[in-house]
Amino acid sequence: MDTKFILAGKSLSDLEKFMIDNNQSKFRAKQVFNWLYLKSLKDINDMTDLPLSTRELLKEKTSLCSITLKDKQISKDGTMKFLFELKDGNLAEAVLMRFDNRANLTACISTQAGCAMGCSFCATAKLGFKRDLDSEEIIQQIFLIQSETGLKVTNIVYMGQGEPLLNFDNLISSIKIFREQFQVGARRITVSTCGIIPKIKELAKLDFQSTLAISLHAPNQEKRQKLMPVAKKYKFDELIQTLQEYTQTTGRRVTVEYVLMKDINDSVADAKELAIAISKLKSNVNLIIYNQNEKSNFKKPNKDTIQKFKYILEASGKKVTIRLERGADIDAACGQLSSKYTKTDVHG
Ligand code: SF4
Repeated sequence: MDTKFILAGKSLSDLEKFMIDNNQSKFRAKQVFNWLYLKSLKDINDMTDLPLSTRELLKEKTSLCSITLKDKQISKDGTMKFLFELKDGNLAEAVLMRFDNRANLTACISTQAGCAMGCSFCATAKLGFKRDLDSEEIIQQIFLIQSETGLKVTNIVYMGQGEPLLNFDNLISSIKIFREQFQVGARRITVSTCGIIPKIKELAKLDFQSTLAISLHAPNQEKRQKLMPVAKKYKFDELIQTLQEYTQTTGRRVTVEYVLMKDINDSVADAKELAIAISKLKSNVNLIIYNQNEKSNFKKPNKDTIQKFKYILEASGKKVTIRLERGADIDAACGQLSSKYTKTDVHG
């Protein structure tokens, strides 16, 4: 069994303790810390401002990461998809996207291997739930993306595999590390949930300055529970009510995520009903065009339908953005890449 000290994910005080325990100057810890989180480190040898003896010690007693990169796909639009192998062989996915604002580099990461939520349109759901990721495994996804690309991630969204609020403690501790160590501002972090009401209430009590996004995907209870089994437990109206309380307590706007799927939830009537349902909710709306693939029966709507849907919501006073289609030529939707490496037969 590998008993090496894993560097990525450690705090400055953890690193200082390691240096002191190994008869090194405490000051070396800060150098390692900067390399780990701010400089896209790929190899211990690259820490050239450390004495050779310290690098040799690190090579002998430490490993950079406990997870490894198993596969990577790059889309024509520059979107990159990463598949990571965890130490027990489970898989987790992350996506790196650059939007129009070229200074921003957004990474979408996973909090669980697989997912138990069973959303009917989601490839990850077909994988089933394997296990929660620990906070180091969550953090190391960003570490490896940075070291693999040589780029600094500026925005993080918890929107990959899994339901983040069902891995609550690891979610919160990883956000703390992204803020304090990777120096990603709280406002540049978004957590997306399918609507775990008790955990949204718990989040409201914390000093959580990041954005909460709710995967709503339907304008009412009936449609939502067909698409998302979680709605059978946490009902539509109660969810909207909880989110309203959340915005009142935190003073922060939430983001309503809505995946538009042809003839499922994209009609004019759906748009009008959604506009009424969220009229009192302090929120922006993010319309996501379904990432169509051959394994799924769901299709994306045409451009007219998308624009009409957007217009109706805007007319109701909401700020609406359409998330650009990213990585359409790769398996960019969560779960699509993992499913290639599992025995699970994906039907869609
Ligand atoms: S959409 Fe999100 S919550 Fe739903 S099954 Fe997929 S990963 Fe889980």
